[in-house]
Amino acid sequence: MTAVVETKGLGKRYGRRWALSDCTLSIPPGRVVGLVGPNGAGKTTLLNLAIGLLAPTSGVIEVLGGHPADGPSQLARVGFVAQETPTYSGLSVTDHLQMGAWLNPGWDNGLAIGRIQHLKLDPKQKAGKLSGGQRAQLALTLALAKRPELLILDEPVAGLDPLARREFLQVLMEAVAEHGVSVILSSHLVADLERVCDYLVVLVASRIQVAGEIESLLAGHRRLTGPRRDPSRLPANYRVIEASHTDRQSSLIVATDERVHDPVWTVEQIGLEDLVLAYMSRGVEVEKRQPAHVEVRP
Ligand code: ATP
Repeated sequence: MTAVVETKGLGKRYGRRWALSDCTLSIPPGRVVGLVGPNGAGKTTLLNLAIGLLAPTSGVIEVLGGHPADGPSQLARVGFVAQETPTYSGLSVTDHLQMGAWLNPGWDNGLAIGRIQHLKLDPKQKAGKLSGGQRAQLALTLALAKRPELLILDEPVAGLDPLARREFLQVLMEAVAEHGVSVILSSHLVADLERVCDYLVVLVASRIQVAGEIESLLAGHRRLTGPRRDPSRLPANYRVIEASHTDRQSSLIVATDERVHDPVWTVEQIGLEDLVLAYMSRGVEVEKRQPAHVEVRP
């Protein structure tokens, strides 16, 4: 099966600073992918490379087996909602739908109108007079009605109230179930990702820290608590992702495929938030040791 996004050694540099470095990923189809990382990690850069708004400085990226933004047919296969959910402020909701129908060969007008009615948006209202959340809903409607194979959403729920967020994510899940659309969404809201995503990518300081099916990632990590230990003396098959210590106790998050037999450890499963935070703080530590990927030219 063709990966929805496949990258090899992908990198993007602005001036001397790498916004994305050495990114190698293969995201299988039919997943709802959560892309997380701190501000400035490179999430928008990666998503913009996937839709062809940016060109790579190094490496390669394929989307649905083709080159991003390689002509109208490739563009029709990918729906995109940018972080600031851009709409045309002088155009009405209906104008947006008409433009969507005109620009997209696979436009599903029934879906678009049904969603606008469900959201109780006034079709005559100018987009500039909608609230931020309503504009986000309009932008999602346009992206969904295009009937894409892949939907890319850059922090789509940031401006939505909790109820609207739940509705938005529900619509996404329905689109996945009904039309088999693959979704990649970036967000800082791990609780939301936990509800809808089955695949995780953590990006910190321009580098991928971990990527994979959430179920297997959770099954492959444990929290170990026990008497204080030097993490470097643990067995080789324990990869320590995060370690914190008091005078007498150590608490570690480790990646391991094996059962932990050593009785000194209390072993617990971890949740998605623990996993994300562990990889995020690990990435920040690595960044402190090897500061910013800034290219120094002679
Ligand atoms: P956020 O969560 O805040 O949206 P992000 O993970 O999406 O952040 P990016 O927007 O991809 O991060 O930015 C990654 C890095 O690239 C940052 O250091 C940012 O300052 C830099 N950057 C992004 N766009 C540009 C640009 N057009 N010119 C120069 N530097 C840029």
